Amino acid sequence: MKIGSKFATAVIASAMLLCACSSWTAAFEKKNEAEASSSQKESSGIITGVSSSKPAASKTETIKASSSSKPQVIEPQVTLSTEAPIVGDAMAIFVENADDISVVTSLGFVPRFFAQGNRQIALLPISYTIAPGDYTLDVKADGKPFHFNIKVTDRDFEEQYLTVDETVTKNTAGNAEANNQWTQLIEPLKLISDPQQYWEGNFISPIFGEIKDKISTEYGSIRYTNGSQVASRHSGIDIAVKAGTPVLATGNGRVQFSGFLTLTGNTVVIEHGYGLKSLYYHMESLNVKEGDMVKQGQQIGAVGSTGFSTGPHCHFSMAVNNVFTNPWFMIEKGIG
Ligand SMILES: [Zn+2]
Repeated sequence: MKIGSKFATAVIASAMLLCACSSWTAAFEKKNEAEASSSQKESSGIITGVSSSKPAASKTETIKASSSSKPQVIEPQVTLSTEAPIVGDAMAIFVENADDISVVTSLGFVPRFFAQGNRQIALLPISYTIAPGDYTLDVKADGKPFHFNIKVTDRDFEEQYLTVDETVTKNTAGNAEANNQWTQLIEPLKLISDPQQYWEGNFISPIFGEIKDKISTEYGSIRYTNGSQVASRHSGIDIAVKAGTPVLATGNGRVQFSGFLTLTGNTVVIEHGYGLKSLYYHMESLNVKEGDMVKQGQQIGAVGSTGFSTGPHCHFSMAVNNVFTNPWFMIEKGIG
């Protein structure tokens, strides 16, 4: 009960900071300094974990205060955003107090770590090609091993039987030149990860307003085109709205590509940091150019039906490098 009341005090104090009263901020910081120095005196010099008797704010300060004088005693820590992702989600791996990090996982992706404040972060996408079941994730942080069992849960994917005018198919999706163009221009961009996080909080729908009833094709749909026995997977969501509707940036980021491609028409690719990307296809017109830094909600183009498309809609994909993830996950749950 005593610990509970201490936590309550810490929460109230930090909530007070939100009212932008500078005297409250200063008082709070001073209190932490005092606690940090007193707990440092109590410390035996070896920190094997966080103390359970101190409030959260002072725990952080204790570690910070000691790390400058005795960095060799800080133990690496590894945490995951979840150990039970759903197919199409993305996970985040956080590592603290370690520089040399390696990851081995049966999830078919090699995560890359980036500094995020005083910790390191890596994104791990769960592709729609991953079968539900049990997987392993082993992290070595400065030589210390961490083992995780990851339980991937299934998601229902719809099957679509699509009929597209043969001449359209021949000129776009079934066209070797169109596919080569995509491979040459877009695939290399997917592997580029900016080392900083541009996005803030959750992502938003690229189309303003309620879109749930406007989805014509869901993420991961299994699609058979013109009676073909070979299925293709839909990498994102299709939002059926009228031509000319503004298409908005789902989050802050850097425009990696803005231009016309035979396959996807007027296309924009945005890097949001750490390899997390959003892609927008089939637009009628474009409002941004390569290299632009865009803000969440900024108009990047207008809905159209260019490229391999059967009518006006906004195709919206999200990916971690070359693995497409579920856009709904990024909008409704968010990551990191
Ligand atoms: Zn689509």
